[in-house]
Amino acid sequence: MTFRQARWDEPSIWDLAPSTPGEPAPAIPGLPERMRRRERLHWPELSELAVLRHYTRLSQMNFGIETSSYALGSCTMKYNPRVSEVLARRKGAGELHPNQPESTAQGALELLWRLERLLTKVTGLPEVSLQPAAGAHGEYAALLMVRAYFRDRGELERRTEVLLPDTAHGTNPASATMAGFSTREIPSKDGCVDLESLKSAVSDRTACFMLTNPNTAGLFESNILEIAETVHRAGGMLYYDGANLNAILGITHPGRMGFDVAHLNLHKTFATPHGGGGPGAGVLAAGEKLGPYLPVPRVVKNGRKFRLDYDRPKSIGKIKTAYGNFGLDLRAYVFAISHGEAGLQHVARRAVLNSNYLGLRLGRFLPRPFSTLVKHEFLLSGTPLKARGVRTLDLAKRLLDEGVHAPTIYFPSLVDEAIMVELPETESKRDLDEYAAAFERAVTDTPERLRAAPQHLAVKRVDEVRAARDPTLCWKDLRQRTGNAEKGPPAPAAP
Ligand SMILES: *Cc1c(COP(=O)(O)O)cnc(C)c1O
Repeated sequence: MTFRQARWDEPSIWDLAPSTPGEPAPAIPGLPERMRRRERLHWPELSELAVLRHYTRLSQMNFGIETSSYALGSCTMKYNPRVSEVLARRKGAGELHPNQPESTAQGALELLWRLERLLTKVTGLPEVSLQPAAGAHGEYAALLMVRAYFRDRGELERRTEVLLPDTAHGTNPASATMAGFSTREIPSKDGCVDLESLKSAVSDRTACFMLTNPNTAGLFESNILEIAETVHRAGGMLYYDGANLNAILGITHPGRMGFDVAHLNLHKTFATPHGGGGPGAGVLAAGEKLGPYLPVPRVVKNGRKFRLDYDRPKSIGKIKTAYGNFGLDLRAYVFAISHGEAGLQHVARRAVLNSNYLGLRLGRFLPRPFSTLVKHEFLLSGTPLKARGVRTLDLAKRLLDEGVHAPTIYFPSLVDEAIMVELPETESKRDLDEYAAAFERAVTDTPERLRAAPQHLAVKRVDEVRAARDPTLCWKDLRQRTGNAEKGPPAPAAP
């Protein structure tokens, strides 16, 4: 299979046609004058066909789950079933307004209520809030709940520390710091939490221990009950980062493992679209201690009626407009009920089988730091490539030339030159075999070609440091930087 990505010399839409100022915004009865847009919007003058071609060409210079396998470890890049997309666009869902009367949104509220019930079963925790918009948002909200809990107990002054394993996702320490805690790293032993180190680190300063299980090395923390007991004995809370839930869906759950609070990434495990920063759904589930602190509103059922309940005195309050990302909640619900309980178990089993199968195949080319059975994802180390003057980054770029997406690289940091691979249950054996073949071609290529990759993509290597530090995210930014004042919309009015 030879891959050549489409490459169009496609200009920006503003360069395709002169822009003309549109009509001034009309006066809308009841809308205060100060809220009316004063400047005129500029639109490129293009035919419908020209616009269609422009965006179709751009889409051909892209990569997505609908093009090929997307092995980004930890991210669970699975197929988003079309039936969910169709349902999410129906009038009653797609045109729902957060301010419409509850009596006209009973179906939507019932769906949220049913999803909450379903997620209590999935997590084994009795209370659920669908508010957070991403995993990191859920983490942050949960840590605010932990703060509120200890404030109520008069322990907040003392409990200032959040403990994290060295395999933790970067969002965990970031959320803890943003929520006002200091962080402390617990070392791993053979890829899992070192229990002795944890025991000596917990104290009456411990507010919380954040853990994902299976962890980011793809290993199940089989000491989890002892971990829970250790943290609880010190009076701390145990937080479940549910991004890796796919591997245990319907088989076990955070409640059974002793966790007090969990976030689930519906956009990973429950097959809703994600990437590029959103939208997501990082819903929260909590046990009895932290349940009262969950964000409002909560959906409640009174007789046959559903309503939103804001009357939760201990709640940390509202953390998101409306009630969460309804469109994603709907897709997740459709995914869950169309699989059913047995189907969700099958998802987990199949995802774990995929991981082990591909792990064995790729393990022929690069060493696996933990060569046991894995869950969810597996790690390779690119260290041997260094001797040939090749970096893990080069291999990742070379894989793109094979038409597949690269794995996650340089994470977790406890493995040198880490390569983290995950192809979830939606990938067939044929897809896995093709991925392994692509990996073999890439890893055995010459150092020169590896360092020069990618050759067949519309965009070659980008300056990643500059992209992160100095992003140009829209036309207005670009125009300001290049001083090109002729084209495009007028510069934003000074505030
Ligand atoms: C993806 C991920 C997160 C963060 O979720 P976002 O929705 O991207 O904010 C946290 N932990 C782990 C292990 C993850 O894989």
